[in-house]
Amino acid sequence: MGNVVAQVGELLLPRACAGCRRPGALLCASCRVGLAAPPQRVFPNSGPHVPVFALGPYADPHRSVVLAMKERNHLAVRRYVGAVLASALEYLEARGDIPSGAVLVPAPTRARSARARGGDPVEQVCRASGRPVAPVLALDPRAADQSGLDEAARRANLAGRVRLAGAPSGRVVVVDDVVTTGATLQASTAILVSHGVDVAACVTLCAA
Ligand SMILES: [Zn+2]
Repeated sequence: MGNVVAQVGELLLPRACAGCRRPGALLCASCRVGLAAPPQRVFPNSGPHVPVFALGPYADPHRSVVLAMKERNHLAVRRYVGAVLASALEYLEARGDIPSGAVLVPAPTRARSARARGGDPVEQVCRASGRPVAPVLALDPRAADQSGLDEAARRANLAGRVRLAGAPSGRVVVVDDVVTTGATLQASTAILVSHGVDVAACVTLCAA
């Protein structure tokens, strides 16, 4: 029911490009080209021991698309970003940077903010990529919103607060929307590895 209401809402809302906000298509031709750029390896300060790849910098169109993706019920852009993620994963597989057919593990979100956004956008993007998804990571509700915290505060905020709801078999790739210090990816990878999960890499939509 909620889904139907959301889809009707999308039909009624005036549409602007999710990448540059110009009126018209969901994503204009120029932003589609920008999003199709190959992913690059990045080296966050507090990153995990596995390689981290970002689809683009925290600049438009990636930045605006990530913000649009988090908007409540912006379902169409999440589906599109899923297709962008799928092609980035194919590129990394072809280069041998990640193993073929890895299970995607969405980075943890605070349950409260996921509900306010009409479901966890990162999990929905992973599902829209058509890859197998194991949403096994969760954040303890005591963890504060990471934005506005510095590197040391982010590490302290996450210490012992990422929970694992099951260990997926096979190799996995952790997926998040933005990597800043790398603290979330590091905490996510650490708890997976400590439960015997084979983490091959992390992939984010953009790198700040
Ligand atoms: Zn655009």
